[in-house]
Amino acid sequence: MFEDLLSLLFPESCYACDGAIARGERYICTGCNIKLPFTDYHVHGATELNPLQRRFWGKVQVRYAFSYLLFMPKGRVQRLLHKLKYKGAKELGVHLGNRYGSLLSDYHYSGQFDVVVPVPLHKYKMRRRGYNQSEYFGRGLSESMNVPLVADALFRAIDTGTQTRKNRLDRWHNVEQVFQVKHPEKVKGKRILLADDVMTTGATLEACTIALLAAGATEVSVVTIAAA
Ligand SMILES: [Zn+2]
Repeated sequence: MFEDLLSLLFPESCYACDGAIARGERYICTGCNIKLPFTDYHVHGATELNPLQRRFWGKVQVRYAFSYLLFMPKGRVQRLLHKLKYKGAKELGVHLGNRYGSLLSDYHYSGQFDVVVPVPLHKYKMRRRGYNQSEYFGRGLSESMNVPLVADALFRAIDTGTQTRKNRLDRWHNVEQVFQVKHPEKVKGKRILLADDVMTTGATLEACTIALLAAGATEVSVVTIAAA
């Protein structure tokens, strides 16, 4: 707990390895920046399906699917996600969104989305955690891609428990009921960039996409910080 407090008070330690970071570096040290498992999903995607897009194939129509990093347990990526989700490191979410958004813009994805919509937390979890980590990632994407963030478009009607309990969402027969569109006017006729922190089975993103398309969204693309 003391260490947690220290890392909050002195954020100059690296969020990925807990080591010291040099002056001028922010959040992630140069060593980790080299070693992080970045994907090349943004390089493909437009012309051929990348591995992430393939996972949605036959389930729901997803325009593009991106993930900044590959999820690897017990490593740098897990430490980053842990700090973002459980240690209050909201600024890390914005930072990662900024970086990935800039990269996507460089790859000609700017101008392809009308709104960024984060995957919502259930109100109980929101109350407990105090913030939605995916919203902060979405905020970084929104800033760097110059696309408005609509944080309240979706609403999580059913608490499906923690993400760590695998496949919990899959057990819902009517997965569409888990997410509902609270403000259809904010998504109707829009090209949505749906943002989440991590993709495991893809069931959450699939359920949100179904809800958004049913509410009149023109198309939905998904983006995560990490994908398993
Ligand atoms: Zn590091």
